[in-house]
Amino acid sequence: MALIERAPAKINLSLDVLRKREDGFHDLEMVMTTIDLSDRIELFPLKQDKIEVSIESRYVPSDERNLAYKAAVAFKNKYNIKTGVRICIEKNIPVSAGLGGGSSNAAAVLRGLNRLWRLNIPKEELVLLGASIDEDVGFCIYGNTAVVRGYGEKIEMLASPPPCWVILAKPNIGVTTRKIFEQISVTDLYHPNTSKVIEALYEKDFHKLCNSIGNSLEPITSVQHPEVMHIKQAMLNIGADGVLMSGSGPTVYGLVEHENKARRIYNGMRGFCEEVYLVRIIG
Ligand code: ATP
Repeated sequence: MALIERAPAKINLSLDVLRKREDGFHDLEMVMTTIDLSDRIELFPLKQDKIEVSIESRYVPSDERNLAYKAAVAFKNKYNIKTGVRICIEKNIPVSAGLGGGSSNAAAVLRGLNRLWRLNIPKEELVLLGASIDEDVGFCIYGNTAVVRGYGEKIEMLASPPPCWVILAKPNIGVTTRKIFEQISVTDLYHPNTSKVIEALYEKDFHKLCNSIGNSLEPITSVQHPEVMHIKQAMLNIGADGVLMSGSGPTVYGLVEHENKARRIYNGMRGFCEEVYLVRIIG
């Protein structure tokens, strides 16, 4: 019997690159929240000791490079499992978009295998395993809204954002996160006010939230892909209350409090950009 896990996308309410570490990686501080745009993961137990991935996407490999595959390998190795699993991924989250689709798939596999093989591993342990795969996987184990630090293993749950609508607009390009990080020159980095974002969440203050969201990577991705700024400006012009690029981009999201206005902006953006979604925060 198949077991089903939902793998929702995330947006960054803040993304701060704090410093470059000696090992070449960057210390980040990120506030993330989950949205109701999800991939669907089905797990089928196999008697043989093997992992199979099937996915209909020309942008995502189905072999050992797939993050869902890597998650299954990590899980099997760590808990010494000698049987196998077939992982079927229905992709709805745009790929290389800054929405954390691959990480969310990996987290869903870790959660799902924990159920499939009835191991009862606590979430804290799955987070550590997830962080060894990719830095957003730990957050995706919990979902909801959290501030994430370190290499993605330090997770502090936060209050959910006030109820609102989210318009996602993705320009027709994919961004490679690694390449964006290579462009960082730490001296002139923009730093968002993450404490103010967190305050806004606890105060349930929608306008304060819109005025404090920020992303250190937005200016860097925008230099390489000016489309990001064009979309941001268009979304602000037609009335979104807070607009920001998510992750390393290129997806830009707009926050809107009321449904009618959100639908109007969604329709307006569809004339401007090919891939547009209207979703809600589920964090
Ligand atoms: P992040 O913000 O964490 O960098 P992203 O949303 O920008 O993530 P993803 O959609 O997760 O990007 O994909 C990034 C890369 O990972 C792509 O090159 C993609 O081919 C690869 N990848 C591997 N496995 C998956 C998967 N299951 N789903 C999506 N992408 C995957």
